[in-house]
This record gives sequence, structure tokens and C-alpha cells, in this order.
Amino acid sequence: MQLTADFHSHSNFSDGHCEVEEQFARARELGLRALALTDHGFTHRLAGLRKKHFGAYCERIVAAGKKYGVTALVGIEENVLGREGSLALSEEELSKLDILLVGCHVMSRHERFKDFTNGWLAFAERYLRLRGGKGLVADQTKCYIQTVRKHPVDILTHLNYRCFSDAVEVAKCCADFGTYLELSGRKNHLSDGELDAIVNHTEVRFVLDSDAHRPERLGDVSLAEAQIARVGVPLRRIDNIDGRLPAFRFAEYKKRNL
Ligand SMILES: [Zn+2]
Ligand SMILES: [Zn+2]
Repeated sequence: MQLTADFHSHSNFSDGHCEVEEQFARARELGLRALALTDHGFTHRLAGLRKKHFGAYCERIVAAGKKYGVTALVGIEENVLGREGSLALSEEELSKLDILLVGCHVMSRHERFKDFTNGWLAFAERYLRLRGGKGLVADQTKCYIQTVRKHPVDILTHLNYRCFSDAVEVAKCCADFGTYLELSGRKNHLSDGELDAIVNHTEVRFVLDSDAHRPERLGDVSLAEAQIARVGVPLRRIDNIDGRLPAFRFAEYKKRNL
């Protein structure tokens, strides 16, 4: 399979190890049609974009796309913040974006202290390869679902990485609202069993992303490809390979509301 576009990458505006321009230079080398730069949202305690740099971040992405002849998407990888499904982005900030990614990151500033502690508990359980307690799984599932319901999320990143949710329920919600599930080239996140259940019990569509933090890794989705082969995910369910590009919901939302 051939990657058409990579929708998840980082630069040194958050925890990436390169300039924005280096990611676009690599995208051109790889022959990608589009690249989304998606540094971490403002609420990430360790690696979040700084508000004072947000304007420069957007400008650099647009300029780099022009320079290297690659369609540039200004994006952000926002944080799931809690059971209310809130996101910490103003309308003005949203209006500067082209694509909206959201994922669970334990180092975020959560809605409530309980959301923060539950995030860490889920992380500990996943890390120790224990099965998450029922209440915890229900809680994490609700966090994901409320976020996808309330906001025009294009891609849910690395579902169940360092946390437990009911992956099938989350995927059903994504299918209902037109949010893509990412299969990550950087992290093992869904188990083969979880992915198999998602494929067989939901209509959700997928994108493959590298989540590259340096140019050498851009477009590398081999980890996801190996899992797709093991599980037998039909390639027709993946919308950013072999010349295809997804229809994202944030672009529609922006046209109508921002
Ligand atoms: Zn992430
Ligand atoms: Zn990321």
C-alpha cells in the first residue's frame, strides 16, 4: 500500500525534534500529496504549543507547504480532557486550523481532578497489562464519546494508548459522526482483538499516520501495516492510501460556522 497523505506529525513547536520546514521537505521527497502538522494542544503540560507561538506556527506551516509544493494542513493534536468532552480551543483558534486531531494524553490539564487521576489509573493498568476496571473503562469510553459528539474531530489518534476504553463503542460513535480512527505507525495502541472487533462490528473508517517527531520517520506506517495484515483489515476501509484522500468533517464545520 502507498500512503497518499500523512495527517499526524510534530515539530519543535511542541515535542518534535525538527523544524516545520524539514517535515515538508521530507513529505516532498516521499511524494506525499498532503501533510498535516499537528503539534500538541495548549493543555499538554509538558509539550503543548505555547499560545504566544500559535500565530507563527500557522504561518510557518502555510509557507512551508508553498515552498515544497505539498498541500499543507494546519493542525493540532488536542487532548481529551474529561467526561464533559470539552476542548480548550477558542473559536478564533479553531478558525486558524484546517484539521482537528484529538487523543488521550495523561499529561494534560484535565477538566476535573478525577479525570486526571482516572487518566493515570488507566495508564497504570494498561502499562501493567491488567484489564481495566469496569468503572474506569466506562469513564474513558465516555470521555472519548463526548468529545467526538461535541466537536468536529477529524481523527481520533492512537485510541487506547495508555488507557482503556470500550474500543468498539468509541468506534461506533466515530462512524456515526464521521470521525476517522487512526492506526498509528508509531505506537501499539489497539490490541489485535480490539481492532478485529472494530472492523467486524462497526462501519468506522481509518487513516494511517506516522505521528513522526522527526523527518526520518515521516510517512512510516509499517507498524500499522503489520497489524492490518495480521488482523486482515480490508484496505478499502482506509482512506489515505493508494491515491485516496479522506473527506474530513472539520472543513465542513469551518465553512458553515467559522
Ligand atoms: Zn498523541
Ligand atoms: Zn502525536
